[in-house]
Formats: sequence, structure tokens, C-alpha cells
Amino acid sequence: MRRKYLLFILITPLMLGFTWGFFAHQNINRLAVYTLPSGMIRFYKNNIQYITEHAVDPDKRRYADTAEAARHFIDTDRYGNAPFDSIPQKWKDAANKYTEHTLFENGIVPWQIERTYYALVRAFVMRDSIRILRLSADLGHYIGDAHVPLHTTENYNGQLTGQTGIHGFWESRLPELFHKEYDFLVGRAQYISDPLKDAWAIVRKAQSHKDSVLLIEARLNNTFPSSQKFSFSERNGRLERQYSEAYSRAYHDAMNGMVEAQMRSSVWKTGSYWFSAWVDAGQPDLKGLIKIEITTEEKEAQEKERQSYEKGKIIGRDEN
Ligand SMILES: [Zn+2]
Repeated sequence: MRRKYLLFILITPLMLGFTWGFFAHQNINRLAVYTLPSGMIRFYKNNIQYITEHAVDPDKRRYADTAEAARHFIDTDRYGNAPFDSIPQKWKDAANKYTEHTLFENGIVPWQIERTYYALVRAFVMRDSIRILRLSADLGHYIGDAHVPLHTTENYNGQLTGQTGIHGFWESRLPELFHKEYDFLVGRAQYISDPLKDAWAIVRKAQSHKDSVLLIEARLNNTFPSSQKFSFSERNGRLERQYSEAYSRAYHDAMNGMVEAQMRSSVWKTGSYWFSAWVDAGQPDLKGLIKIEITTEEKEAQEKERQSYEKGKIIGRDEN
């Protein structure tokens, strides 16, 4: 029995090791399409399958590209107890204060949102359909990640507080179990005048939930019958351990709508960033866009990514 138990522990991180889960990321991008105004929605609807499927490309890239990992999180606690008073919002100012090396070490998600946003504006100006779709999918991914409280802390998987596994629990297991109860009518996309400032506001909000995410689970763990905390199921001939539905329900309800609120905001913000990029590009006509084929180098890079992903070894931090 003991040996088997060890086996479950080894398998579990592999099953949970994706940001927001593939499921949530794909739904965030897909649902964001419906927030768009009439000048945009037809193009995005025609390509909704691409936008949905490629919502998880940035996570796949982490298997091939060492620079990718830092783009998905920011460990705000490494900047002290009041990080938002000390981290300058602009990259240059922050790099001058802390060095670029430190910024990359601690994660760069707000700046990655900004950078992807301006790349998307340029793609709209060029009316390059493939680039617009690829960058829209990426941007939705980073915006989604910035909404996850555990993407704002060095205790990103509860590993410092004896709660290892909580990362995938919060962002994969819970939305997969309970999304049918969520209200995803988030309204229309709204213009964002300062993409960087907004990205920081998203991170600040996520970070404000971080303590609750950890403390509520710790409290539940102390009161919930431990024999009912996990359930086991067989997949591909192997036993897998997961947080039981009863435990998941208790945790989810104790957070009082937080997962739903963060997912709704991810959808709405993703649509709003896409819309704003289109406005900033001068509202180009999206009918009859130019389809610029990707270059051989880009094709080769993508193939390399696919192969590394299939080999399944993340470079740098996993669980983020
Ligand atoms: Zn991610």
C-alpha cells in the first residue's frame, strides 16, 4: 500500500501541471470572442477553433523555450510585503531598480501582457491574419494566468506550506468540476486606455486573493475527514489520485465565488484587450485579411516546440 501511495504522488503533479488547466484557458479564449463588437466578431467567430485550440500554446512552449516560463507569473512576495508600492510599473524603471535578471527570476507576466498587446496592435496594422490570431490566443493566455492568485506568489504550489498540489486544484480541478454553474455573460468588451496599468491591476487583484486561497484550503484540510479528501480513478491502466468532489465542493464554496469571478474577469479582459488593440490600430477592416504564410524558421521552431512538448519535460518551473 505504501508503495502504491508513492506512485500516486508521482503521477499527480503531471496530471495537474498546467496553468488554469487546458480546459479553462481554452474556454476563456473561446468565450472572449462573444464580447467583441460588430467590426471584429465575425473574423474571430470564423476562427474560433484556432483561438480556442491555441489558447494553450504558451504553456506548450515552456517545453522548448527557456525564456517562456517567466512570462506566466510574478512572485510579488519577493518584492516585500507591500510589493505594489515597491515595484515600478514600467519595465525600464523596474529593471533599473532591480536588474533585468531579477525581474526574469521573479516572473514578468504584467510586462508580457503589455508586450504581446503591442505586438497585436502591429499585427492589426499589418492586417496579417495569422499573426493576429496567434497573438490574440497568446494574449488571452497571459491575461488568464495573471488572474490566478497562485501565479503571484513564490508559494505557487503550496509547497512552502505543506499544500503541494493546490495550484492545479484551484485552476484546473475546480473550474472543470464547477464551470457549468458559472455565469459567463460578461458583457461587451471595453476599451483599455493603459494596457500596462490594467495588467498591474489584474495582478494586484489576483494577489489580494492569494492568502485566502491558501488559508481556506489549510483550514478545510484540518476539518475535513482525511479519508475523504482524495478520490482515485483508473486512467490508461494507472490509478490516479485527485481531490474528491466533496472536498472540491467544500473548498470551492468556502471561497465564495472567487474562481468564477476570476474566470469571468479573464474572459472580459481578454475580449477588452483584443478590442483595444484593434482600436489602437485604427479599427482596420477585418474582411479579406492578408494571410501571410509563416516562414520556414517559424515552422521549424513550431515543430521543435511540438516535439519537446510531446517528450514532456518542462524547462524551468512547472505548475505555473
Ligand atoms: Zn501559462
